[in-house]
Amino acid sequence: MTFRASVVTLFPEMFPGPLGVSLAGRALAEAVWSLETVALRDFGVGRHRAVDDTPAGGGAGMVLRADVLAGAIDAVSPPGDMRPRLLMSPRGRVLDQALVRELAAGPGAVVVCGRFEGVDERVIEARRLQEVSIGDYVLSGGEPAAIVLLDAVVRLLPGVMGNLASGEEESFAADLLEYPQYTRPQVFEGRSIPTVLISGDHGRIARWRRGQAEKLTAGRRPELLGATPKKAPPEG
Ligand code: SAM
Repeated sequence: MTFRASVVTLFPEMFPGPLGVSLAGRALAEAVWSLETVALRDFGVGRHRAVDDTPAGGGAGMVLRADVLAGAIDAVSPPGDMRPRLLMSPRGRVLDQALVRELAAGPGAVVVCGRFEGVDERVIEARRLQEVSIGDYVLSGGEPAAIVLLDAVVRLLPGVMGNLASGEEESFAADLLEYPQYTRPQVFEGRSIPTVLISGDHGRIARWRRGQAEKLTAGRRPELLGATPKKAPPEG
């Protein structure tokens, strides 16, 4: 089954962009997944095909209109479409590998890209958009976020990664960051590859990698191991 991605955007020329090369690009050419863009401008109103307007209540910037967005979403995702409808948004659930896996196991996704100050809240409710963030920072538009999300999802689709094991061992696969990787030359600027890796003892290598992954995770991302930051005891 082809994973079907539909992206609603004011800038369709930004797609496929990076998704058209390497793993994702090859998979796109081989129809492992499909990508269509919906140009928001085509659904704009009036002579100038306006897609935005000033915020109700005043304030800086412009807001994408609910009616324009709804028209664009409905054009690719009529009632009964089983795909999740996502809105890229800094307010959303932060994208992680669990959500990426969940999306990759489904039929596809409708991905709405915001611009300006964001989108009219009513379209989020009326079209049941799930807000997804790619991190705690603000982009100028949802398109780079949509590309990040789709890149992460597409590489998990069956047949996309040549060596399946690479997906099973990499960062987050077991709530661990990946162990350090090495390749030729054996000595680089006086630094040698750890001898265990050239021992040929697969059991030892696996144990060493696991130990390294645990150490790295404990040092850099202890929360992945279930560690919670220490709280100060209640006063009094
Ligand atoms: N005024 C909004 C706020 O403070 O939350 C920011 C709007 S931002 C300039 C324009 C659009 O970029 C958003 O509607 C969203 O689609 C996208 N965007 C910005 N940062 C994002 C992030 N961290 N993750 C996902 N999308 C983001």
